[in-house]
Amino acid sequence: MDLESLARARTHHPCAACRMLRRRCDSSCILAPYFPCHEIDKFAKLHKVFGASNAIKMIQMVEKRNREDAVKALVYEATWRIKDPVYGSTGVVCQLQKMVQELEMQLESTKARVLELQQQKDQFWNFLSNLDLISPINGGNFALDYHDSISYDPAKFPAECDDWII
Ligand SMILES: [Zn+2]
Repeated sequence: MDLESLARARTHHPCAACRMLRRRCDSSCILAPYFPCHEIDKFAKLHKVFGASNAIKMIQMVEKRNREDAVKALVYEATWRIKDPVYGSTGVVCQLQKMVQELEMQLESTKARVLELQQQKDQFWNFLSNLDLISPINGGNFALDYHDSISYDPAKFPAECDDWII
């Protein structure tokens, strides 16, 4: 063994899985990329729920490019399986699906209420625009702060209002 290999061997830290399983960890360790030496807790969950041997088999069954995601999914499932031995991560998924359904119902209800208020507003502005009553606000410059303002012809104002100006 040359000096460089010797130095590398001395500085090599076994992965969390090999540390926990008390086995030799080398460059061919399938678990090393996913369980660095400081993540013992992560591997401990996986080991507790699935067992190291089964976990390794499941990881080996997946193509290399998908292994990182597979390990994340297994650790996630193991974490929830420890918290909830009956439903595991399925319990969380069901809870989230229920929340989505409730939020969808709230959204539909809110949409219906918005539509109802829009119709009331339209009816109100139609009612106002059909009134033949114009108020001489600001010396005849009557305008509403709304895109459907009441039509008003200032030239007609004094003549039409003669009877109620005393
Ligand atoms: Zn290892």
